[in-house]
Amino acid sequence: MMLDYHSLLLALGVSAACLMVTLFGTWYSRRTDSFLLTLVIALCLTVSGIFAYSSYTVEADVMGASIAYTFLMAGFGTIYAASVQFRSGTRPWITAGAITAASVAFGLPLMIAGFDGLGFIVMNLATAGLLLETARQYWRARREAPGPLIGMAVLYAATAVSFALCAVVLIDGQQWVLGHAPDNWAENLNIAVCIAGMTGIGALSLALHQWRMATHHRHEAMTDALTGLLNRRALFEQHAHRTLGSSTAVIVFDIDRFKSINDQHGHAAGDQVLRLFAEDLTSGMKIRNTVARLGGEEFVMILDGVLPGRAERIASDISRRFAARETVIGEAVLKCTVSAGVAVGAPTGQPFETVLGLADNALYEAKRAGRDRVHVAGYLRPVDLTETRTTA
Ligand code: GH3
Ligand code: MG
Ligand code: MG
Repeated sequence: MMLDYHSLLLALGVSAACLMVTLFGTWYSRRTDSFLLTLVIALCLTVSGIFAYSSYTVEADVMGASIAYTFLMAGFGTIYAASVQFRSGTRPWITAGAITAASVAFGLPLMIAGFDGLGFIVMNLATAGLLLETARQYWRARREAPGPLIGMAVLYAATAVSFALCAVVLIDGQQWVLGHAPDNWAENLNIAVCIAGMTGIGALSLALHQWRMATHHRHEAMTDALTGLLNRRALFEQHAHRTLGSSTAVIVFDIDRFKSINDQHGHAAGDQVLRLFAEDLTSGMKIRNTVARLGGEEFVMILDGVLPGRAERIASDISRRFAARETVIGEAVLKCTVSAGVAVGAPTGQPFETVLGLADNALYEAKRAGRDRVHVAGYLRPVDLTETRTTA
């Protein structure tokens, strides 16, 4: 039986080492998800511990037990720290270091004093506790990627139980002093669970990383890189199918004579103006409202649940704030204005693209009337910005 256990330990060590290499490769190719790197370091410590423990099962001595104990506790402490890092983004090293130090301070003297059985009990209980806490971290983060995260929580919890059983069997047998590695049914179960658990957790950690990457790319594909607003594609993906009623307004903004800003002050200055206007659009904005960059220096805002007249007021407030800005570009002080077109959905409902087209026509009217103003679609008398400014 002992020989079988020893082979299983070696198998566990080798497959943990392979997993470590795979995770390192995955982390190295992008170097974004640093929790993967923490897991690599955790595995490195754990693998060292497994091999130390494996040689201890062949030739028992206090030194071997102490080395195995220290590496395994450091490994499990780091596995826990990686889970905290995954969920909250905090740096893992203080947590990992503190756990390792505490468990070594508590368990190592027992090992050295010859109470190796007690030492293994402490180690098994501490490991069970850490793995259970690790399971809890992934469980709490499950909303991000329910499949992989619930799977990881279950596997960590099962592994925790198998370590707890090892402690229970030793306590039950009152085996405070062993003189060799513990050898009982719980140990055999534990190693089987560890092999299955580690393989599963390894695969799920990779799946989780892929999931994060995919989410990241989806977000990037929806975001305008310059302003951080939604881009045109995202706007249409989210709104093209909608039918807008009379409480939903669409405002299209277009910065006035933007080409001349580029021409006179350079493209970088133009970009700066675009960023500032995007800020004006989103400051004090309710999250429910959509703000997107349609392209170039054109922006769109969709306001849901607005009373009549509200959208025009919001549009002219934004225009006023933007016109009042003084953008310093080198020596020059830039003043820019913006024109806007507003349209509201029909009481019986109107496709989004129709309302957007109406807002666009109103914008064109505002440009024709001299710029720096807000026009409302379907109104006979255009709302002059200078007029709204005095009443706002
Ligand atoms: P109008 O008052 O009629 O709107 O005149 P305009 O000059 O603002 O309009 P036009 O559409 O002729 O010019 C838009 C310019 O915006 C042309 C293009 O070079 C510039 N542009 C488009 N995208 C960007 C960008 O991302 N950054 C910068 N700096 N300029 C851009
Ligand atoms: Mg323009
Ligand atoms: Mg334009």
